[in-house]
Amino acid sequence: MQPAPLLWHAGRVCATAGSPDALAAAAEVSLRVERPGARRVTRVAAAGACGDALTVHLAGCNLACAHCWAGPEREEPARAGFLTHLELARKLRLLRAENRLGASPDALRLSGGEPLLSELSLALVADLLARLPGRLFVETNGIALGAHPAWARALTAHGPRLFLKLSLKAATPAAFARITGRDGAAVELPFRAAAALLQAGVPFDLEALSLEPRLFPPGEREALHARLRAIDGALPGRLREETLTPYPDTSRRMAALT
Ligand code: SF4
Repeated sequence: MQPAPLLWHAGRVCATAGSPDALAAAAEVSLRVERPGARRVTRVAAAGACGDALTVHLAGCNLACAHCWAGPEREEPARAGFLTHLELARKLRLLRAENRLGASPDALRLSGGEPLLSELSLALVADLLARLPGRLFVETNGIALGAHPAWARALTAHGPRLFLKLSLKAATPAAFARITGRDGAAVELPFRAAAALLQAGVPFDLEALSLEPRLFPPGEREALHARLRAIDGALPGRLREETLTPYPDTSRRMAALT
């Protein structure tokens, strides 16, 4: 597959030359990185964000966040090759057996790009959980999930072995557009995702870089808390607030944030 041309949008290079609509972009990126039973994978590593989980870095995302730490495969997913779900599970099993990365044998994490782009993404989650023991942590921006609340009900089939980490980029349309490079209307979708996960009973928590003033200016953090309280009074208690870590790709992208 030939890589699509890149597009400068809101001062940054986007994941594809497609729509500035975050949901439409999810479908476009899915076409580039997902096939039935296969996914473009950048690499596998061990990382600390979910304990010492073995982490699958996926290529491609429907957002273009200024704070993103993912490598250039975010914008150019064709740099990464396809692995079938079976090949990926075999690789992960081998890495666990060799223990060269020192990762937990009980925890796996999908991150690096957006793991939940389409129904094909749900199949990857199901296949990994079926083929590997332990828990699976999925770090998602919640855009496609928020538009498809039925996915949350489907994810309950995995019980407590599946844990979602839902990343909230902003509380208001203007801040969302500035940070993600996508139309601000999509700011609603991650909140809808949180409501759907809560209603379905899927284990999850929330993350936001709300302690970083370059991303959350005065008032935005309070607006975020208020939006969560409006969904459920207990939701702010699930929010893990962070400052920015200056990973090389984060610093490169933040330099373009206006
Ligand atoms: S931070 Fe996450 S949601 Fe944002 S562009 Fe990077 S991978 Fe996508």
